Amino acid sequence: MIADKMKELVKNSSVIRAMFEEGKKMADLYGAENVYDFSLGNPSVEPPLAIKEALIQVINEEPPNLVHGYMNNSGYEDVREKVAQSLNQRFGTSFGYKNIIMTVGAAGGLNVIFKTLLNPGDEVIVFAPFFGEYRNYVSNNEGVLVIVSPNTSDFQPNLEEFEKKFTAKTKAVIINTPNNPTGVVYSEDTIRRLAEILKRKQKEFGSPIYLISDEPYRELAYDGLEVPYLTKYYDNTIVGYSFSKSLSLPGERIGYLLIPDEADGSEEILQAANVATRILGYVNAPSMIQRAVAKCLDAKVDLELYNRNRELLYHSLVSYGYECIKPQGAFYLFVKALEEDEKAFAAAAKKHNLLIVPGSSFGCPGYCRIAYCVDYAMIERSLPAFERLAREYGRGKRV
Ligand code: PLP
Repeated sequence: MIADKMKELVKNSSVIRAMFEEGKKMADLYGAENVYDFSLGNPSVEPPLAIKEALIQVINEEPPNLVHGYMNNSGYEDVREKVAQSLNQRFGTSFGYKNIIMTVGAAGGLNVIFKTLLNPGDEVIVFAPFFGEYRNYVSNNEGVLVIVSPNTSDFQPNLEEFEKKFTAKTKAVIINTPNNPTGVVYSEDTIRRLAEILKRKQKEFGSPIYLISDEPYRELAYDGLEVPYLTKYYDNTIVGYSFSKSLSLPGERIGYLLIPDEADGSEEILQAANVATRILGYVNAPSMIQRAVAKCLDAKVDLELYNRNRELLYHSLVSYGYECIKPQGAFYLFVKALEEDEKAFAAAAKKHNLLIVPGSSFGCPGYCRIAYCVDYAMIERSLPAFERLAREYGRGKRV
């Protein structure tokens, strides 16, 4: 009945989503308080109150035909202008509304930009570990994903291998920092070196190579860590932003693409991305939430709540003998599996009602992702299970 391509996609459909569904079934079976579901990156911290107030204000005070009507496919001009000005204030840039295209979350933005840039067979380089949906976003748009293997010493990108991955077909490179699934923030030194390589490769192949910075976790960086703003390091940078995590609004589907004037062919790209937004069937990003986020660009979720989770989970796991890098951002912790086959390890964890995601979903076998955007109390309740799991593998509590 269904298309052959879809058969493949259904078969390989998201392990994470499947786990999330499984978690719900397990909760019915064992009681919700006895199941420790760390599978999905669904924000646990509430959206800032400012969002609720802004939505009410939009409905009560703005003209209904404006709030609910069609608009330019790139989004409301006043909303885009506010986004641009907010970036200019924060990063000393000089963007205008024309550089911004409102999108249906980061997922929508990435599909729009790949549709805009890729010819069939064009290559997009990505650093493992990476958000697994990139595979689909690139193949949806007839591109080929080229994977740079992980650097498990610190999970900064493997730049030596990166340099060898370029071909005449390389059209884009995608990076994600703070990173899903490791929580690592790429250092300024890494970014500088990455930009140097890109500049060299552009010259060598004589055509633009775009750096696509996927930034849903930009605002979730701990200990006051600065996340470098990529357009400052490389002219052909395109930013894909999302409010899904920064304002805890994943169901509202809102984000934007930033295409700076400095990018080669920026006017053509902006025009094509506008058309791509329409023909992909988004038409435009949802109108009410566009208007609401424009009033909340300085609002923040309470990062301290995620930070408490991070501290508790990281220190507890290390004390039980697990190996992991302390996350610097996002709300994920990437732990080394206690046996070679991380799928078997995740299955062993499930026997303790711990739901964690095998690293192969992120192009990095041997590790598992723990999403700690959950209640602090659930983490507390889960700790004995993590400890029992470690003991099963001969690890013990360090004193
Ligand atoms: N990119 C990364 C790295 C993500 O982790 C996610 C969602 O978890 C997305 C993109 C998609 O985000 P959105 O909900 O904004 O589409």
